[in-house]
Amino acid sequence: MHKKLFIPGPVEVKPDVLEQMARPMIGHRSKEASELQRRISNNLRKVFFTESEILLSTTSGSGLMEGAIRCCTAKKAAVFSVGAFGKRWYEMATSNNVSADLFEVEMGKAVTPEMVDKVLKTGNYDLVAVTHNETSTGVMNPIDKIGEVIKKYSDIIFIVDTVSSAAGTKIEVDKCGIDICITSTQKAIGLPPGMAICTFSNKAKERAEKVPNRGFYLDLLSLYKYIQKKDYQYPSTPSISHMYALDYQLDYILNKEGLENRFARHLEMAKVVREWAKKYFELFPDENYLSNTLTTVKNNREIDVSFLNKELAKRGFQISNGYGSLKDKTFRIAHMADCKMEEIQELLININDILGLE
Ligand SMILES: *Cc1c(COP(=O)(O)O)cnc(C)c1O
Repeated sequence: MHKKLFIPGPVEVKPDVLEQMARPMIGHRSKEASELQRRISNNLRKVFFTESEILLSTTSGSGLMEGAIRCCTAKKAAVFSVGAFGKRWYEMATSNNVSADLFEVEMGKAVTPEMVDKVLKTGNYDLVAVTHNETSTGVMNPIDKIGEVIKKYSDIIFIVDTVSSAAGTKIEVDKCGIDICITSTQKAIGLPPGMAICTFSNKAKERAEKVPNRGFYLDLLSLYKYIQKKDYQYPSTPSISHMYALDYQLDYILNKEGLENRFARHLEMAKVVREWAKKYFELFPDENYLSNTLTTVKNNREIDVSFLNKELAKRGFQISNGYGSLKDKTFRIAHMADCKMEEIQELLININDILGLE
C-alpha cells in the first residue's frame, strides 16, 4: 500500500504532475528548451517576488547551498544556525576551504536581528547564511527583520535556505534584501526530488566575480553567464523531466490555485496541527517563530514514535520522527505542498485512534 507522506520532503506529488515527468524528451539545445526554461524562470520570479535572475541546478537543494557559500564568500562567512540544516552550511563552507564562523542558538529558538547585528559589527564577514525554515526544530526565522539589519552593511551577501518553505509561505526576496534564495523541488513546491532552484542577484554576481576558486559544476557565476548567452540553456544536460513538471506546477500555483491562496492554505493546516499538538502534547519551538510548513511536536507523553509510524503505515500514512538528537524526543508532521486540510484531519484522527487520545 502506498503511504501518504506527511514528512518534510519528499512530499506527495499529484498524479497529473507525475504524468508530466513521463513526457518524451526534447533536445536541451533546442528552441523549445529555451522557451521552457525561460518561462520557468519568469514564473519563479513571481513565486519569490524578485527581479533577480533564477538559476536551476540538477542537484538537490544542497547543491546550490554549497555553490552559494563557496562562490560568494571572499572574506569570511557568518553562518547562523538554529538546527541541523544551519550546521550543514557551515560544514559545506569548511569542507570547501571557505573561511566561516558558526553562530548557534539553542534548539527551538530563532536567530534574532540583534544577534546578526552584533556579529556584523565586527567587520569580519562579507556573507551571511541563514536557514529560513529549520526542518529539524520547526522554527521559522524572521528573515525580513534579519534582512533589515543586513541592509546597513553594504558589502554583505545574504544567502537563505528556503528549501522547506518556498512556495508554502510568502518569501519576498527583494524586499528582504536576499541575494541568493535557495529551494528544492521535493518540498513545498510539490515535485519529485532532483532539482534545485535559486535566485541570484546582481550583487551576488559581482561578488562571485571576485572569488577565484568557485568550483566547476556548482559555479553559480558560470551558470548565470551561460544562461544569459545561450537563451536560458544550461551548460550541462538538465533534468528535462523536472522542467516539464515544474513548468506545469508553476502554472497551477500561479494561475489555478493562486499564490496567496496557497500560502493561506498552508497556514490554515499549520494552525490545525498546532492546536492538536497543544491539546495532546506540546509544541517544540518557540511559539513566536513557528513554521507554516511543518510542525515539530514535543513528545512529552513519551509515546513510541516508531510504533506510531508502524501503525500509521498499516493505515496508509507516514509522519517523521525527530531529526538527529531530537529523535523520539520530538516528532514532525509536514503540512506542505498540495496537502489538503481533509488529509491533515484524517491523519490526526488516525493518530488519536492509534494512541487512544480523546
Ligand atoms: C530538506 C532540506 C535541505 C536539504 O535539501 P536537499 O534538497 O535534500 O538537498 C536543506 N535545508 C532544509 C531547511 C531542508 O528542509
